[in-house]
Amino acid sequence: MVEYIAFDADDTLWQSETHFREAQAQFRLLMQEYLNGSYDDRYLQETERRNIQHYGDGVKGFGLSMIETALELTGGRISPEHIRFLVNITKEMLAAPVQVLPEVEAVLDELSGDYPLMVITNGDLLDQEARFVRSGLSEYFRCLEVLSTKDPFSYSRILRRHRIRPEVFLMVGNSLRSDIWPVLEIGGQAVYIPSPGARNEPLQMEEPKPGPYVRLEHIGQLPEWLEARLLAA
Ligand SMILES: [Mg+2]
Repeated sequence: MVEYIAFDADDTLWQSETHFREAQAQFRLLMQEYLNGSYDDRYLQETERRNIQHYGDGVKGFGLSMIETALELTGGRISPEHIRFLVNITKEMLAAPVQVLPEVEAVLDELSGDYPLMVITNGDLLDQEARFVRSGLSEYFRCLEVLSTKDPFSYSRILRRHRIRPEVFLMVGNSLRSDIWPVLEIGGQAVYIPSPGARNEPLQMEEPKPGPYVRLEHIGQLPEWLEARLLAA
């Protein structure tokens, strides 16, 4: 039985990863100039992974990680103009228009009549609040929750605050690490909708067994799946 549905935001409701990819490409070009072409994307990815514990999973942390990586790899030779360039890339990411993914709005329109919906996302509070408003989707949701990390503890805290029993809670998202496993761990249900290259997801991430968990190929399949589940119950 599903009584409440929560959606992840980045690459579940709207596009996010493409902005990071574009920024990474600009960073790569800059570093190749300094390092005579010997730059590898993994340098930045490793800095980001190390910094998640300090900055969380967001655009601002990504920007700081670019600057840190550039300082390390160039041995401090990176010019002030180029540091400014990296700051500007970060600001452009924060100001980028929100591109809602295909079929999302129709699905929310349909489901919001039957279920209370919420958004549970991680990232920077100010950035995600602004994105939520700019997405034009806010009217479909009861609330927005921005977490610094999505772990079982933070999900439990939200459910307790909203007086929702885990058994009737369904989380929909594109990351096994942050949207699926922690929710299953506290006794909730989860729908995984993979997206190409989920952010900071380990390459070998185990998929849960079907049950309170299901994998759909597209968000457009969600209403039908919920209906079939309701009929089966
Ligand atoms: Mg996501």
